[in-house]
Formats: sequence, C-alpha cells, structure tokens
Amino acid sequence: MSDCLFCKIRDGEIQGDIVFEDDDVLAFNDVNPHAPVHVLIIPKKHISTVNDMSAEDVSVMGKLFSTAKNIALQRDVSEDGYRLVVNSNKQAGQSVFHIHMHLLGGNKLGPMVDRID
Ligand code: 5GP
Ligand code: ZN
Repeated sequence: MSDCLFCKIRDGEIQGDIVFEDDDVLAFNDVNPHAPVHVLIIPKKHISTVNDMSAEDVSVMGKLFSTAKNIALQRDVSEDGYRLVVNSNKQAGQSVFHIHMHLLGGNKLGPMVDRID
C-alpha cells in the first residue's frame, strides 16, 4: 500500500473533495485553501517531483494544464485570472511528494514569491 497522501486520495483510502477525474488525472479541492478557488490537479500516476518526470510523463503533464483550464472556466475565474503553481522540492515549499498543480483564483493574488533583495 502506498504511503503517499495523494495516492490514498486517488485510491479512495482518504476522502477527497473531487472536482474532476478521468483515466489520467484527478482534481480535488485543497483542504486548506489559500484563495476562494484552490484546486489541486494531479497525475494519477505517482511521480514525486518534477525532477522525477520521464519522457512518458510529458503528455499527462500537458493534461494537468488542460484540466486547469477547464476547471477555471467552470469555477468562473478564467476571465479575471488565476495562477497555476507547481512547487518542486523543499525550498519551493513542496510538502506532498506527488506532483500537483495548484489552481488558485477568485480574488486578487499577492506577489508570486517574496522579493529576495
Ligand atoms: P505543496 O505545499 O506540496 O505544494 O501543496 C500541498 C497542498 O496539499 C497544500 O496546499 C495542502 O493544503 C494540501 N493538502 C495537504 N493535505 C491534504 C489533504 O489531506 N487533502 C487535501 N485535499 N489537500 C491536502
Ligand atoms: Zn502518490
């Protein structure tokens, strides 16, 4: 059995507020939203970080974008704007090591990162 939180949501071992699912992709609302719309979009295949992507994973990563586009439209944030974020490894703040794309929208978003100067 996988120890990965998002694999457990994929497999129904942990409850997820699922907003979209197909053979390759799963999307669910973030349990601790940082914006009125905060959806996590994952490949169903377990890939830990972007560093672990292989050539065969390129198409599913493209599907994360098309899924984000569709959900943004459904949640009515397309026109006003939204942000897509993929944190990779610790300094970026990745806390769940199964690739996930954050879809954030519904209000004015702050700066993407703190200035470093
Ligand atoms: P990261 O920091 O790795 O980029 O993002 C992980 C995200 O997963 C966080 O926004 C966090 O709120 C969310 N998260 C953590 N545990 C759960 C959970 O059990 N269910 C859901 N739906 N989201 C979770
Ligand atoms: Zn996983």
